[in-house]
Amino acid sequence: MKFSSPIRLVLYMSVVILFFITGAYLVLSFAKVTEFNWKFLAWFSVIDFAFIFFFLRGVIRNYLIDKIKLIYKTIHNLKLTKEEKRNKKFDMSAEVISNVEQEVKDWAESKRSEIEQLRKLEAYRREFLENVSHELRTPLFNIQGYVSALNAGAIDDPTINKSYLEKTEANIDRMIEMIEDLEVISRLESGEMQLDESHFDLYSLCKEVYHHLEDNAKEKNITLKFGAETNIGLFVYADREKIRQVLVNLVNNSIKYGIDNGRTKISIYDMVENFLVEISDNGIGIEERHLPRLFERFYRVDRSRTRTEGGTGLGLAIVKHIVEAHGQTINVRSTQGLGSTFSFTVKKA
Ligand code: ADP
Repeated sequence: MKFSSPIRLVLYMSVVILFFITGAYLVLSFAKVTEFNWKFLAWFSVIDFAFIFFFLRGVIRNYLIDKIKLIYKTIHNLKLTKEEKRNKKFDMSAEVISNVEQEVKDWAESKRSEIEQLRKLEAYRREFLENVSHELRTPLFNIQGYVSALNAGAIDDPTINKSYLEKTEANIDRMIEMIEDLEVISRLESGEMQLDESHFDLYSLCKEVYHHLEDNAKEKNITLKFGAETNIGLFVYADREKIRQVLVNLVNNSIKYGIDNGRTKISIYDMVENFLVEISDNGIGIEERHLPRLFERFYRVDRSRTRTEGGTGLGLAIVKHIVEAHGQTINVRSTQGLGSTFSFTVKKA
């Protein structure tokens, strides 16, 4: 037999007990052990019913409170404050039971997603450590090779000693760059890095980056230019230094992965609430299958090429973090052999 609420169970039990007591009274009356009295039976039934009802109600209520408290203690993992205890009315309605049921379901669901999240974090941490040690191993082994060679006598050979030292220095620089990038990533991911937002002119910032990287571009005979619509007075509200970092990274990549005598174009387009900044090149381009993973840490399309270009594989991950920390988006379009276009939005001032 099922009862939709504890109070119905108490009512049912009270009626059953009363039925038996009345039955016993009738039997005793028929057996002439006691004299039958209708008035007595009526009063006795009412008083008896009330007594049994309140007694059972008290017992079951205490029993339920104990059980519910135990459930709450388990699922909330903490002591309920007096206020909370008062709010969790331990009455006998069906609602209380279904509330507990719902809370237990919610608790189980939150635990399940917590475990899922922990598993993902664990996998991420493992992959991250593997990547870091893998990436640091290459320059370390290089340094070890050059230092051993110098130690074994190359130091006295004027034709190679300087170049070995320079190569050692370049590898150390690469490691330092990687560690700095890792620090930036971890600060961005932990939310430790606060944005220092202000109003500034996006076009002058692009010009600044343009001049900063002009020499790098010249080395590869790459022409840097601005799109026709791009002009002064495009005011935005963002962290200037970080947007600068995004631009440097994207323009630098367009040079690194550009072709000799190629070109890089910086364009700014007016969207209703934002400006869209596009950095496009006619460089080596990226195969479509790589595009979805391009912004992952350490993801590289061509490891050997990146190594010669000296990248850390963290640049685009940092760029994405910065853009998303501003509540904006970044995208890439690319065709292998034709070139790439990276575009991100910045909020208008
Ligand atoms: P890296 O330090 O290797 O340059 P990034 O995170 O900046 O790391 O870039 C990840 C990968 O994306 C690069 O290794 C490169 O293969 C590819 N990539 C980035 N920008 C371009 C571009 N403009 N043209 C072609 N490939 C690019």
